[in-house]
Amino acid sequence: MGCAFPAQLIENTISFHGHACPGLMIGIRAAELALRELGAHDKPNLVAVVETDMCGVDAIQFLTGCTFGKGNLIHKDYGKMAFSFFHRPSNRGFRALLNPSLKIGPSEELRALISRISQAAATPEEQREIQVLRQRSQEAYLAADLDELFIRQPNTCPAPRPARILESLACEDCGEKTMESRTRRFGGRTLCIPCFLKIEQKI
Ligand SMILES: [Zn+2]
Ligand SMILES: [Zn+2]
Repeated sequence: MGCAFPAQLIENTISFHGHACPGLMIGIRAAELALRELGAHDKPNLVAVVETDMCGVDAIQFLTGCTFGKGNLIHKDYGKMAFSFFHRPSNRGFRALLNPSLKIGPSEELRALISRISQAAATPEEQREIQVLRQRSQEAYLAADLDELFIRQPNTCPAPRPARILESLACEDCGEKTMESRTRRFGGRTLCIPCFLKIEQKI
């Protein structure tokens, strides 16, 4: 069965992100899966761990309410199309990996065209063709069966801890207040990360 979200909600997600694109559709479907499996009625207790920083993460923030600022959206920079969701009170959750054997992503044809565009060599006709192929790919993501679109796996780790309020220390180089867990020690001094990196690069 295709995407169960009302068309208006999809439109609102596109406005939040700023444009429609295949990546956003993947995020919309991942959010749909999370809400279906873990309960749309208890969004404040959801936690998402995303292994990519691409467009789709905006859909996850908008639709599940897991946001970077609240600390219930965690980015792991692994560059994978995988999203883990947790429901804290029930300790339930899963990891959803975009099914690599489902052939609805950018086709070879589209990849070849895009690589030509990045070489600034695409003709206006080819650019139109890219639009058509992208549109087709977006529609295919929305139409796909959720259980085929993602491979669902058990989570290998527990839900990340809720963010704690930690003490701030003044960096001994720039003087700016820095959360203790983000400070570094060097030469007997407590430093913020940028100051530490500046010194480290000189060595
Ligand atoms: Zn996008
Ligand atoms: Zn500093």
